[in-house]
Amino acid sequence: MPDLLGMDLGGTKLDFLLAAEDGTFLYEKQYDSPFQKTGKTLGKANSEVLVDTILTHIPGEQRVAAYINQTEDRFLKEAEKKIGSFDIAGKGASLCGKTWEQNGNIVIAGGNTPMRFASDQNKDKPGIVVMKARADYPVKAANDGTAAATAQSIYYKVAHGIDPKKTAYFILGTGFGCGIPGCDVPAEIGHIPVGFMPEALWQTCGCTTGHPTACAENYASGRGIANCARILLSLKDSPVLKTISPCLVRQTGFSSLSDLVTDSRISRHPQIDAKTVMDYAKNNADDLAVFIADLAAQVTADAAIAVAHLFGLTRVGIGESVARLNPWHADNIAKKVADRTRNSNMLVPPLKVELTPIDNPAKYGALSLVVPESQYETWAEKMAPSLPGDLPAGSQRGQS
Ligand SMILES: [Zn+2]
Repeated sequence: MPDLLGMDLGGTKLDFLLAAEDGTFLYEKQYDSPFQKTGKTLGKANSEVLVDTILTHIPGEQRVAAYINQTEDRFLKEAEKKIGSFDIAGKGASLCGKTWEQNGNIVIAGGNTPMRFASDQNKDKPGIVVMKARADYPVKAANDGTAAATAQSIYYKVAHGIDPKKTAYFILGTGFGCGIPGCDVPAEIGHIPVGFMPEALWQTCGCTTGHPTACAENYASGRGIANCARILLSLKDSPVLKTISPCLVRQTGFSSLSDLVTDSRISRHPQIDAKTVMDYAKNNADDLAVFIADLAAQVTADAAIAVAHLFGLTRVGIGESVARLNPWHADNIAKKVADRTRNSNMLVPPLKVELTPIDNPAKYGALSLVVPESQYETWAEKMAPSLPGDLPAGSQRGQS
């Protein structure tokens, strides 16, 4: 059976994974990302990253690709030692940034990829070359959200017959993002402004520097949930709370934001992070936590509806830490979507939002870009082992 090579380039790690075509993992290893921060700074307070310090004899614009190429060679040699020979039929790459092809190169541009390593081949659309196309097997690359969405879409296609282009994967972790299979630009839902948000709750965001915004990520993501709790608690006894209360409580059903903040027990917690807020909210142990989680759910639901209208989606699977650790939160988001879109004559069939049905979309993402369609059923079973019997009758292959 032919094999597939997957690569996942993040801001801190570079993962390689070799798998059989049927989705059986054969060998995997993690290395440092070329963009991993060293802790030092360069001129103008830019963070120094790993490829500032190694391969310095190679020009900056070729250095990232050279590092990735060398690391891949090292991985393949180690893999051969461990598992014997293999036969690569395709390579998929999941990349931390906007991803496109340019002159036979795969190029990225993102928030964690310093542009001093960009190629100057195309000044209108500068980007960093990460790898070249190959003559011996296909190489396909996508933004990491799109790659995870592609893996998830294989399951939706096999289990429910949904066209991959009508599905999306929501990244609900430290940040908030979205991927749609086959869409070469990431749908930046995290930076859609939340219109009803009072300025007192605006936060600085990665999309701007030193300029607070009402970006959806500032309320829906783990970082946003924690910051909302800190901001609201800091406004205790401030007249601002009374001013912003009416427009916020209208979104949730509580009567007074001032009372929620005054009575909240979160402030006594030594560490106010997303986990603390969500743990209090889950057990209804603190009304302020319930309010913040509900606000996060409303913002996520509104973003799902917006992106469904724009891209013609019928199914959104939500993954990553905030969703995974809090399935009740994913259910709340789903309920808010259903409430807001009830009787919609435009979202037909109705938009369904749920916790992603597959176990590890990020891990399968890169490989899913090159898996042949003949393997989709086997892949769907491998990716969603916790859902036995969910696949339509007759699709079980009886093969592990
Ligand atoms: Zn933003």
